[in-house]
Amino acid sequence: MSDPASTASGALVLFSGGQDSTACLAWALDRYARVETVGFDYGQRHAVELEARRAVREGFIAAFPAWAERLGPDHMLDIRGFGAVAESALTADRAIEMTASGLPSTFVPGRNLVFLTYAAALADRRGLRALVGGMCETDYSGYPDCRRATMDAMEQALNLGMERDFRIETPLMRLTKAQTWALAKGLGGEALIDLTLRESHTCYLGERGELHPWGYGCGACPACELRARGFETWVAEGRPAAAP
Ligand code: ZN
Repeated sequence: MSDPASTASGALVLFSGGQDSTACLAWALDRYARVETVGFDYGQRHAVELEARRAVREGFIAAFPAWAERLGPDHMLDIRGFGAVAESALTADRAIEMTASGLPSTFVPGRNLVFLTYAAALADRRGLRALVGGMCETDYSGYPDCRRATMDAMEQALNLGMERDFRIETPLMRLTKAQTWALAKGLGGEALIDLTLRESHTCYLGERGELHPWGYGCGACPACELRARGFETWVAEGRPAAAP
């Protein structure tokens, strides 16, 4: 683990219980002496995601004692009002497809901007300076609020508007899904891979029936396809570990 003295201020991880935010949580626990997690209830279709958040956090506490000492409370924020405004395939019964605007129907307009505004307000109250999120431009190029340029602008807006010096840290920004598996292995070895496979949840449809080599999920939605392909690539490369 990194020396926590060099990173005295703590981190707030935007934590959905998915593969990406599980890797981000490990990344933050490796760097910061104090780490808290935040999740958002914006009217998701499935309680599965909420259960995954609990299970992944408990898995960290059970399997990684040094990280358990650094892991602080979890916060769940109710932003259902936003979900109602931004209704899309994730929050209503609409098919997952490309829309006329060229964005997937799973895109919730401005979602990450809302998440980060709430996260910054919470971080301010909790005395945490780093906001860590799994935004990634490599695989989600259709999501404009996942781009680093958006994050840089958001960081500036938050710091001007709140008179603070938050940093928005996005460790997965330039990684492929295969490289995210390698990062997870570099941080927590095969124990973290196993925890991610068994407990993290990515599937848009909330499917938890069968444990595939790459984890649970329907296997057909865009999130499952991305996760399965990334895992298979990583396995074909010989399950490498990347230094964090
Ligand atoms: Zn799926």
